Amino acid sequence: MYYKEYGNTGMKVSAIGLGTMRYDEQDVKAGRFEKCAEIPLYALENGINYWDTAPFYCDDKSEIITGIALSQVKRSDVYVTSKTNFSTLGDHPSRDDFRRRLETSLDRLKTDYIDFYHMWCMLNLESWERHMEVLYSFFEEAEREGLIRNIVFSSHMQGDDIETVVETGKFKGMLIGYNALNHRFRQSGIEKAYENGMGVVVMNPLGGGMIPNHPEAFTYLTEGTDLTVPQAALRFVASHKEITVTLAGCTTKEHIDDAVKAVENLEEYSAQEIVKQFEGKGASLNNLCTGCGYCKGCPKEIEIPKYMDAYNQYIFTGKKKSILDRLDNHWDISKEKVLECIACRKCEEQCTQHLPIVERLKEIGEIS
Ligand code: SF4
Ligand code: SF4
Repeated sequence: MYYKEYGNTGMKVSAIGLGTMRYDEQDVKAGRFEKCAEIPLYALENGINYWDTAPFYCDDKSEIITGIALSQVKRSDVYVTSKTNFSTLGDHPSRDDFRRRLETSLDRLKTDYIDFYHMWCMLNLESWERHMEVLYSFFEEAEREGLIRNIVFSSHMQGDDIETVVETGKFKGMLIGYNALNHRFRQSGIEKAYENGMGVVVMNPLGGGMIPNHPEAFTYLTEGTDLTVPQAALRFVASHKEITVTLAGCTTKEHIDDAVKAVENLEEYSAQEIVKQFEGKGASLNNLCTGCGYCKGCPKEIEIPKYMDAYNQYIFTGKKKSILDRLDNHWDISKEKVLECIACRKCEEQCTQHLPIVERLKEIGEIS
């Protein structure tokens, strides 16, 4: 395994981290938690010492499963994370609400401390400012008491906004979505974090499945290697010197083997060099829906991720008819539903890719 320094913390973390949101669904449902816990244990055997978890993952069982594994290893051999925000605490949380949430995570993880505790999922600057105002002092207090080791944040903001947060100097690291699809969109943010001595952890390195589902568009990443497209996509991210840990969501031991192979003999380059290396080779695909699902809650119950996934087909093929094919054959939903959109833009405010959802729905509605 290849290891990197996590910002200025002095912690040495594996270039691949374990994303624990993909424990086997059937095993989770059946309560076979010990079996699921074999995944982090196998990850550690293979050198993966960064385990990223959170409330709600895997039907709210991820922390419990990860804790079973954590209790079976030497605590100092693993860096474990968890997360909190208004969605987990309610809109006007008190210090006690915060503490209860943190204590629940500690109990579930069977540990006295969490290495990286995230101010979770900051979608825009406004939301981040509100979280800072209400929660940051609670984070600091928990850090002083040793319950959390490092205060970090996770975000779906764009590069410029990430820079604003980074410049406050309030965080030791950050977790962001970054991949071969959207890297131009977030690059300035990771550069700024690196310059400021922060660790950078990357989620969603496979673009929410878009990369493995469209391998033909990404074979350029595999040139000169014996890697598969998903492995090459992981390596693409991990090879940024500005990026510390690349999270791989693993359900099976084979997934771990694949991720480990992706960083064998890793070489690091600056984001600038990487952009130059791949210039003109891949499409600029920042405008794709990654299927993250953050746009849920449409008052008209429009299944936005499905429509935006269908729109992705148009971006890939250039044919509007491919949208209708996708809606009919893959999702089995009607085109007419989009006409119910009242353009409230609630979804656009939540969209992690900042997509013009209303406009795209309108376009879909107009296809004859
Ligand atoms: S803008 Fe349209 S699709 Fe988006 S939440 Fe509002 S009604 Fe739903
Ligand atoms: S439309 Fe935006 S928020 Fe919704 S699933 Fe796609 S990328 Fe995520």
